[in-house]
Amino acid sequence: MGIEAALPVDGFLTTQLRHVINWSRRSSLWPMPFATACCGIELMATACSRFDLARFGAEVMRFSPRQADLLIVAGRVAIKTLPVLQRIYEQMCEPKWVISMGACASTGGVFDTYAVVQGCDQFIPVDVYVPGCPPRPEQLIEGVMMIQRHIDQEGLPPSGGKRVPLGLAVQPTHSVRPQPAGLTVGI
Ligand code: SF4
Repeated sequence: MGIEAALPVDGFLTTQLRHVINWSRRSSLWPMPFATACCGIELMATACSRFDLARFGAEVMRFSPRQADLLIVAGRVAIKTLPVLQRIYEQMCEPKWVISMGACASTGGVFDTYAVVQGCDQFIPVDVYVPGCPPRPEQLIEGVMMIQRHIDQEGLPPSGGKRVPLGLAVQPTHSVRPQPAGLTVGI
């Protein structure tokens, strides 16, 4: 980590236990992927070598909710799938966090039908919304970092009582060019 080089051999640091706990907790988020559609492919790409979610200590994907504390909903949620999602959320460890990845998870996206949940936040608390269809891996990483910054600054969510979601949204970092784009036809 480089800290050994910065300290003398028999040196020591003073800090607060709360800071150490928050530091270790935010550096070891264990995601539970709930990938039901195309956003799941971007989620997989985020964990691969090009984007390397491991740099943020959040690459240990767990497929058992009891071993995970970060639920990533990636893709549309069908009404029939909703009880499964809710059960997974209930079984996850506390303190736990939720990212809604992509338009479908957050709003139903283009699937404005009776069979698709029009936003998973109607049924589980969502801390960070990542926009896009699909979002880029960088956007998902920014969503993870928003939760890490919150853990660093605020510490643990209040225990007991109703869970209050953070309700943060990743903002787009680009401006859309004028549409429609000009077309040229070669002869
Ligand atoms: S937001 Fe777009 S990319 Fe993501 S699951 Fe929906 S349709 Fe697929």
